[in-house]
Amino acid sequence: MRIGNGWDLHRLVPGRKLMLGGYQVPSPVGEAGHSDGDVLIHAIIDAIYGALADGDIGSHYPDTDPRYKGIDSQKLLEDTMAHLGTHHIENLDSTVILQSPKLRDHIDSIRASLAQTTGLSIEQISVKAKTTEHLLEDAVIAQATVLLS
Ligand code: MG
Repeated sequence: MRIGNGWDLHRLVPGRKLMLGGYQVPSPVGEAGHSDGDVLIHAIIDAIYGALADGDIGSHYPDTDPRYKGIDSQKLLEDTMAHLGTHHIENLDSTVILQSPKLRDHIDSIRASLAQTTGLSIEQISVKAKTTEHLLEDAVIAQATVLLS
C-alpha cells in the first residue's frame, strides 16, 4: 500500500468557469489559472504523484509550457492515471473548501465525473465540501488523499 496527499488553491474571478472534478458547477465566478483551474483535479493529481513519490503536478505539467494553457484538467488526470503502472487506486477521499456557491447538490455529479475520468467506481470516490465561515471568499481550496495498492 502507498498513500499520497494533495492540496491546491485557486483564486476565484468573474468570467471563468468553476470546474470541480471535471464538472462545471454553476457559479458567477470560477478559478483563475493557466489550465482550466480545476482545483480538485489538481489536488488529486498531486496525491497520486505523491503516493508514487514521483514529483508533482508542476514537474509533470509545468505552467510555463504553452501546451497546458487552458487545458481541460481531465486530460492531465487521464495522463496521471497512465503513470500508475501496476498500482491501483483503492480509494480517493477529498475535501473542497469554498464559501459560495454551496456544493451539496453537486457532490454526486462531481463524483460521477471523477469516476468517468479515472475508471474508478463512484463508491471509491469521496468528495466532501466545507465552507470558510466567510473568512475566505475569493478562493477555492481542495485537499485529496489516495491509497494505492
Ligand atoms: Mg492548480
